[in-house]
Amino acid sequence: MSRLLVLRAGQVFDGERVRGAKGVVLQDGKIRGLDTGGAQAPVEAEVADFGPEACVLPGLIDAHVHLAFDASADVVESLANYDDSTMSQHLQAASVQALHAGVTTVRDLGDRRYLTLKLRQRPGSAALPHILAAGPPITTHGGHCYFLGGEAEGQTALRAAVRERAERGCDVVKVMVSGGNLTAGSQPHQSQYDLAALRAVVEEAHRVGLPAAAHVHGAQAVADAVEAGFDTLEHVTFFTADGVSADPALLDRIAANGVVVSVTVGTIPGAPAPHPAIAPRMAAIAANHSRMFRAGATMIPGTDAGVTPGKPHDVLPYALQALVDRIGMTPLQALRSATSIAANAIGLAGAKGRITPGADADLLVIRGNPLADIASVTDVAAVYRAGARVR
Ligand SMILES: [Zn+2]
Repeated sequence: MSRLLVLRAGQVFDGERVRGAKGVVLQDGKIRGLDTGGAQAPVEAEVADFGPEACVLPGLIDAHVHLAFDASADVVESLANYDDSTMSQHLQAASVQALHAGVTTVRDLGDRRYLTLKLRQRPGSAALPHILAAGPPITTHGGHCYFLGGEAEGQTALRAAVRERAERGCDVVKVMVSGGNLTAGSQPHQSQYDLAALRAVVEEAHRVGLPAAAHVHGAQAVADAVEAGFDTLEHVTFFTADGVSADPALLDRIAANGVVVSVTVGTIPGAPAPHPAIAPRMAAIAANHSRMFRAGATMIPGTDAGVTPGKPHDVLPYALQALVDRIGMTPLQALRSATSIAANAIGLAGAKGRITPGADADLLVIRGNPLADIASVTDVAAVYRAGARVR
């Protein structure tokens, strides 16, 4: 049995609530328990005391990132200029950047040539965050993010694309159900696939044991993705050609259905203005998300890290503030959303997002009380990954 490590702090948020505990006990990369009494640690234990003003949290989860994008002003151009070797170095740097901000789990929803899966398979990957990966997102020929290499149309090709991802070891199947802003010629408000095609993709994904994530902007794409049985809906902006429009009945249906809404929030302070297509629509997007949340929708943050200069790979902690300001979550709801609820939503219940005996010892220690000031999650004192301090 290896050595015990005790982390001491004034508060512990366990993924559900702030506990009276004053410490967390780690061993062999796992949480062994909570130290509720502040008792003398066993003599063999190592103690890291962060002081009464600090709080220990489960490592945060970003449910939607693109490690392959470099957060430059033109990520499509950058990507074209990266060969696979340069790309692999960039993927590693991007993931470490997230980890050092306390983002101990990322779900990559679109890479090129499955390089993200190779990254996590390389030896020594404990110094990286836990990475779930979709590989190249499935899209139409010349459709949104076609340059990532995931083009497939027709039910036979779509089912084959799903099986290829399963065989490669992907954790989730990502489908560009609508167009997107990043791709020249793509129209976000327009659907790329019909309902029958979407049903085939989801059925095949579930048959091989993978969840399915739907990139959706237009209302028809959102409605079809819910109907087809996707597990998570990404973005959910309800874009029209020139604005935003959501049928309240569909918002209520999403909330009642239980499908997870992954909301695209979070930018760093001083970030450049949002995409000109998005800026004037942000208030309406937030109002719809807020309505779904109040109606009981399961909602988690997915930053789309990497896609713009305002969204570097360590942006997720800023998304919690956005969940409070724009969606109307309480700080406690925002903390749950980025930890235990996110873990449940992406298939990591029990292992991630909780400080409970047996869970992985992926932890973030911050200076401050996140219930009093959610922005304190950006004031990082330490990060642990599988029990090892990485910052
Ligand atoms: Zn994305």
